Amino acid sequence: MKTYQEIDRHARDVNPDRQSAVYSVASALAEKRVNAFQRDYADPDRLRRLAGQIKQHTLEHLDHYLQMAETSFQENGAQVHFASDGTRCNQIVLDILKKNDCRKVVKSKSMLSEETELNGFLTEHGIDSVETDLGELIIQLDNDHPSHIIAPIIHKNRREVARCFDREGLGDYNDEPEVITRRARSYLRKQYMDADAGLTGANFVVAESGRISLVTNEGNARFCLAATRLHIVIVGIEKIIPGDRDLALFHNLIARSGTGQRLTVYNQFIGGPKAENQPHGPQQMHVVFVDNKRTEALASNCREILRCIRCGACQNICPVYRQATGFAYRGTYGGPVGSVLSPLLAGENFAQKADLPKASSLCGACRDVCPVDIPIPDLLLRLRDKGKRESSKKAGAGTPPMGIWAIMSTQPAAWKAALRLGYALNYPPTQAFPNPALQAWRSVRKFPPWRGGKFRRWMKDRKKSSE
Ligand code: SF4
Repeated sequence: MKTYQEIDRHARDVNPDRQSAVYSVASALAEKRVNAFQRDYADPDRLRRLAGQIKQHTLEHLDHYLQMAETSFQENGAQVHFASDGTRCNQIVLDILKKNDCRKVVKSKSMLSEETELNGFLTEHGIDSVETDLGELIIQLDNDHPSHIIAPIIHKNRREVARCFDREGLGDYNDEPEVITRRARSYLRKQYMDADAGLTGANFVVAESGRISLVTNEGNARFCLAATRLHIVIVGIEKIIPGDRDLALFHNLIARSGTGQRLTVYNQFIGGPKAENQPHGPQQMHVVFVDNKRTEALASNCREILRCIRCGACQNICPVYRQATGFAYRGTYGGPVGSVLSPLLAGENFAQKADLPKASSLCGACRDVCPVDIPIPDLLLRLRDKGKRESSKKAGAGTPPMGIWAIMSTQPAAWKAALRLGYALNYPPTQAFPNPALQAWRSVRKFPPWRGGKFRRWMKDRKKSSE
């Protein structure tokens, strides 16, 4: 099993420019969030609790709401598919595209598609899949990965973006943000016009009305559907909310929590393919509901994490994320949400991600900012416990460090010796530890002065004086 030291190592080795880019953007977003809530609400916690209750209610009746969503989408003329895992999801998307003779797809940002590695799969099968969110486009051109849920290139600066555009033929080196944006805009316009299909995720799926809601700040999701004849939605089963009126609460929370905005710039509501009397829009809409270990997470004692609306607020506030950056978490989701979600979504490979819940100081900041009131520190502790149980099951009971503790606490002589040894910690590492590895370990740790054993001495003296 890996240890949290891997994240520690990543934090030390990360390029300082990258670290400071992540730190400053995450801190600015966190500050904007605080200002937005303070400015607009007398009691934001009441809203967070309400949103958490709505999501928790939906999760506890997920079978009912999934069925309701399926029926509503079908009544609106959409086709509904269910995928048990990422591989099945990718295959369903490919089959739909092939059946409709689609060669090119324009795609808006979807963390689920990162989870299933959809772009690579489509490319392997001869489909040109183009990211249209500016950050995701740069990630795709650089063959990189997103390191933040809502700011995928939080780890890059504008000079890197200008170099990328220069290399890829989008224009000679120029790192002015306005020039970069204009170049991306003209490049993407061509892609929208050439594409056969638009692929999106969904921020929310409304079971009652069979609609998806998409929030973006670039308007790229609506362009993906403007000139294409087919719309495919891939969405995790946990994204369902019961009714349209719940959207008001969630739209207010997601914008303020993620970017400190009152409302995201573009909010789309899509309930089926184009109607007969509509001049434009895709003629088909396919909704693929994806499980990919979500039902296992729902059955676990960490099911609250499925309330997550992917706002990124817990990443922005987390001191570990800010230092270590998103790549330290070795998966689609970084930061506190990733430390819970990644081990759960790893299923039988839980051990490979069991170190992530340990990469937290348990300061509780993530819980305080979460718009759906997820008790992230509690979930981290439950996963630490699961990791400990699973590793001791494998290695047998009494494995270190609890095995050592068991010996010491049941044998007085060993306990006394350990107390005396503790005083070695008060000396400089070179004097206290003959072993170079222990010296290195001790040299980066500051301990408070060791004072163990005084109680026993005090008891002994007390006994003597009372005799
Ligand atoms: S866990 Fe909460 S704060 Fe973190 S991304 Fe999800 S909804 Fe946002």
